[in-house]
Amino acid sequence: MTVIDYSTVNVKYTDLGKRRKPMARWSMKVKRRDRSVCKVCGSNEDLDAHHIMRVSCYPHWKYCIDNGITLCKQCHMKADEGLLSISFLLNISDTGSF
Ligand SMILES: [Zn+2]
Repeated sequence: MTVIDYSTVNVKYTDLGKRRKPMARWSMKVKRRDRSVCKVCGSNEDLDAHHIMRVSCYPHWKYCIDNGITLCKQCHMKADEGLLSISFLLNISDTGSF
């Protein structure tokens, strides 16, 4: 049982690492472009890169920098709850490509 548990953990960990690498790079580029400030409230703490257009609907924009916006944890939560509209986020973002 111990052996099975370890192998399961390892596989999961490896998969996660593979998936997270390009995402981490994307997130880094988005934050760098936004000068590491939340575009909504101006906070520079607990920053996340948020996908403006849902990745589930637009998978080809997953690693598109123009589809990213820097948000703090609190504003990110609001965005995920739909309290910040896409048009609002596009307006305040520095993308300009849509
Ligand atoms: Zn914020």
